[in-house]
Amino acid sequence: EPYIPKVIDVNYIEGSNDKKWSSRNFSWTKELEANNKKVFGNHSFRPNQREVINATMSGYDVFVLMPTGGGKSLTYQLPALICPGVTLVISPLVSLIQDQIMHLIQANISAAYLSANMEWSEQQEIFRDLSSDCTKYKLLYVTPEKVAKSDFLLRHLESLNARHLLARIVIDEAHCVSQWGHDFRPDYQGLGILKQKFPKIPVLALTATATASVKEDVVQALGLINCIIFRQSFNRPNLWYSVIPKTKKCVDDIDKFIKENHFDECGIVYCLSRMDCEKVAERLQECGHKAAFYHGSMDPAQRSFIQKQWSKDEINIICATVAFGMGINKPDVRFVIHHSLPKSIEGYHQECGRAGRDGLRSSCVLYYSYSDYIRVKHMISQGATEQSPLVSGYNRTNLGSSGRILETNTENLLRMVSYCENDVDCRRLLQLVHFGEKFDPGNCKKTCDNCLKSMNLIEKDVTDIAKQLVDLVRSMGQQFSSAHILEVYRGSLSQFVKKHRHEKLSLHGAGKHLLKSDASRILHYLVIEDILVEEVKKNDIYGSVSSLLKVNETKVQSLLNGGQRITLRFPSITKTNKLSKFEMTPAKGSLVFGKMYPNIDTPAQPQSEVDVQLSAKL
Ligand code: ADP
Ligand code: MG
Ligand code: ZN
Repeated sequence: EPYIPKVIDVNYIEGSNDKKWSSRNFSWTKELEANNKKVFGNHSFRPNQREVINATMSGYDVFVLMPTGGGKSLTYQLPALICPGVTLVISPLVSLIQDQIMHLIQANISAAYLSANMEWSEQQEIFRDLSSDCTKYKLLYVTPEKVAKSDFLLRHLESLNARHLLARIVIDEAHCVSQWGHDFRPDYQGLGILKQKFPKIPVLALTATATASVKEDVVQALGLINCIIFRQSFNRPNLWYSVIPKTKKCVDDIDKFIKENHFDECGIVYCLSRMDCEKVAERLQECGHKAAFYHGSMDPAQRSFIQKQWSKDEINIICATVAFGMGINKPDVRFVIHHSLPKSIEGYHQECGRAGRDGLRSSCVLYYSYSDYIRVKHMISQGATEQSPLVSGYNRTNLGSSGRILETNTENLLRMVSYCENDVDCRRLLQLVHFGEKFDPGNCKKTCDNCLKSMNLIEKDVTDIAKQLVDLVRSMGQQFSSAHILEVYRGSLSQFVKKHRHEKLSLHGAGKHLLKSDASRILHYLVIEDILVEEVKKNDIYGSVSSLLKVNETKVQSLLNGGQRITLRFPSITKTNKLSKFEMTPAKGSLVFGKMYPNIDTPAQPQSEVDVQLSAKL
């Protein structure tokens, strides 16, 4: 009986909940199961593998969202093995391809790859085989550049297709198509040509990172038609998340954290710059840890030496830039620590995802300071941050200066800031929102710092404070940092304040009744909302970076004319606290952004006496 898919959107069909794809009655089921055991040595299928294979082998375009390590490769390697003809695989990075081919050849599956920097004679040999009537290859891997630049390749694909020997087209790491993703690769956008040229060949697109907008982009750019989407939860229940304020003694805090929680266990400390990696590794060594550093300016031999030592547990801790991690399959990574702010929530999720592959409890700790935001922002604008290997493996000329990409990067970074500044909502929920996934915080079971605190919250309107801050930025001439603006607002009489005669301003001290952390949260919120803009400036020959706060005149209008209200959440005071209300001050850093995720419901608490006092202050 023919399967009539339920069309949810013009372009997609949800496959994940459709029992049809789990059936063991497809004509290929026996062969599939036998080869999974015999050739790949797997006892069973992991979640969604069987379903994806059945859908792609039924001839549909399929889009797979599966976390890193979930087993995406099998979903095309196994069909490649049992279908006649050649499966074309587009993969972004030669080193990833080489790794895959090595595994395939070990399993006795014939595979080859073509890349632009291969010897021509070597390429010709592969092309010759593809033109023969009984090509030996089951899988042909190519980089996206190859598809974009080689007419020769396209002609061979046409010839394969004409002879009914083009089995399937696989786009691995498909999020590289999208500028909204964190690994944008321009050549991926040209891959739509494959669907145009070979409309009847099923396409299988795979990724571990796809927000709703990335998903749209991928389906659009690849020209997928009635594609079936398989996705599974990106929640990792065995990872425990927390964000900790970063102090000057950050590395000592890290040392203490590891000694107290993961003594002699294995982990990664992600650092922003190469120099940071080396410094942090050195300090951790002094503290008695088996630590080493890893970054992009080490030569490949050095890097693979460190990686091997780490795999063999001769080194416990690797202090690395994001260049470290792709393709790493160590199951017992017990902690992933971020020494500085990650560049996007997707990137953060993926980096954390390297912990706890064995399913055992592992920690993900992020050390956050707002000043790191300024630093990262500056590095991004200079194109100076290390990229994940997906991007850096590719020659990324002027990615840093291209307007839209810069904008996207800055937006991604601001989302990350807002994640860190939020100390109320479940971390899992905040991450999963970005993958278009709903999550019930009740299922977190206090495995993140915010759920562990589980405060009662109450919304407060802080619009008037926000307006005062905007006025203050203006009246100070839009040339001071957020730290200085806060000082003036809270009534500081420091030398610097006096030097600029800021104590004479009418708003000097207007916010003296506020906690510093609360005032700074409101200010940071205005930056996240793009009402104030941090302009980052390099200061002097030592390369130190400072930032000036400016008013975004377009965005500020609705705040000033009363159209926009800003409400943030405070912890409400519980009964026990009420008894000691005279000593009571709200918990440090307790003000949070309530507006970033408006779909999150926090039941409003009845106002207590102390709450009323608090709101009167505000
Ligand atoms: P992804 O591409 O989704 O990140 P991979 O395809 O690289 O993941 O697979 C990750 C690991 O899981 C590999 O070591 C692979 O051999 C293993 N794996 C995949 N499928 C299965 C399975 N059904 N049973 C056991 N191991 C599997
Ligand atoms: Mg993969
Ligand atoms: Zn939680």
